[in-house]
Amino acid sequence: MSPARPQQVCVLGATGSIGLSTLDVISRHPERYQVFALSGFSRLDQLLALCLLYRPRYAVVPDARAATFLREALSGSAVAVEVLQGEAGLCDVAAHPEVDTVMAAIVGAAGLAPTLAAVAAGKKVLLANKEALVMSGALFMQAVRNSGAVLLPIDSEHNAIFQCLPTDYARGLAQVGVRRILLTASGGPFRETPLAALGEVTPEQACAHPNWSMGRKISVDSASMMNKGLELIEACWLFDARPAQVEVVIHPQSVIHSLVDYVDGSVLAQLGNPDMRTPISHALAWPERIDSGVAPLDLFAVARMDFQRPDEQRFPCLRLARQAAEAGGTAPALLNAANEVAVAAFLERRIRFPEIAGMIDAVLNAEPVQVVEALEVVLAADARARTLANHWLSRHGR
Ligand code: NDP
Ligand code: MG
Repeated sequence: MSPARPQQVCVLGATGSIGLSTLDVISRHPERYQVFALSGFSRLDQLLALCLLYRPRYAVVPDARAATFLREALSGSAVAVEVLQGEAGLCDVAAHPEVDTVMAAIVGAAGLAPTLAAVAAGKKVLLANKEALVMSGALFMQAVRNSGAVLLPIDSEHNAIFQCLPTDYARGLAQVGVRRILLTASGGPFRETPLAALGEVTPEQACAHPNWSMGRKISVDSASMMNKGLELIEACWLFDARPAQVEVVIHPQSVIHSLVDYVDGSVLAQLGNPDMRTPISHALAWPERIDSGVAPLDLFAVARMDFQRPDEQRFPCLRLARQAAEAGGTAPALLNAANEVAVAAFLERRIRFPEIAGMIDAVLNAEPVQVVEALEVVLAADARARTLANHWLSRHGR
């Protein structure tokens, strides 16, 4: 059964990896979904092509220059797209009264304000932008409860956990008989690289993920396992879990996307090929199921599945993230901001790979953790961590 009126979808971060996968799924179901708004940042040619293909009502770009470029490029076409700009433009489309569903797929802290705008407007919010939730966890989840927004996780692990939990899990994990969550991780491209060689790895090697094709920032996060650290914090907020209830399991094949362990000894898992169109389709259509274009899982081709405990000496970012999860308050926002600066510096070849963790550690040690009562506290912590990280970079970076 398909809905009478197509759902109006706003895709924030349309030019990225998740954005394009979302549009791929949407284009398989034109009777169900219509693209209402798209946003891009640096890949304006890509955004132009998407506007011509999907004919959204709005497109959002970072600034006036980009807006002029897009308006002029569209003026010769038969497509009428209204071009908005900046954070205000992103928040406007995310909260637009005609929008039903918002895909939050901007990378990093830049996605926080528009994602929160979608939440506050009570939209169905498909959350890929994990950094937004990591930064503002308690406020974010309170805003979901206040507005009645429907929050569905896109991160494959969290989508898997959501699928393995009963529908009334919000009563509390203990109440629904959950003992713990097993968060799987591929271990990234450097799982077996000799520790002594990690100082020499390049951004290209870090971005060559063995199983997933993703944007550059999350690819580096996967290589350092900060991605799993951010996901640990994300899981705690989404499912109201304590950090100790979430165990990270390295599973190099990336076929099991996570598991839920119940008190009776049952362990439920969600499996599938590593293709983000599965969680995207799941969340778009939830509680129904639609075709995603993903090939059926061939267990005979998978043949075997392995599991390992993560090595914190190899992956210090995972330890830092767990500490931040336990500290609470502004600690996750500090961790996230320092990591964003560190990853950008590594991609620009200003620091070596192991210095990512070194920089984050230095920022966390320099900045006291505060209680978060308001968004301003989070934004101030984010800004201070970036200043400290840049200061560290000016002393230690190339
Ligand atoms: P990409 O880098 O591929 O895409 C990021 C998107 O955000 C692009 O549309 C980009 O625009 C836009 N963007 C970048 N910076 C800004 C900014 N300052 N303001 C506004 N928009 C901006 O990333 P991914 O698609 O891989 O990841 C997106 C989010 O989803 C991340 O939070 C990531 O952690 C999460 N995620 C991704 C997964 C994946 O498989 N890729 C899996 C699970 C989670 P432009 O390209 O035009 O510059
Ligand atoms: Mg993930």
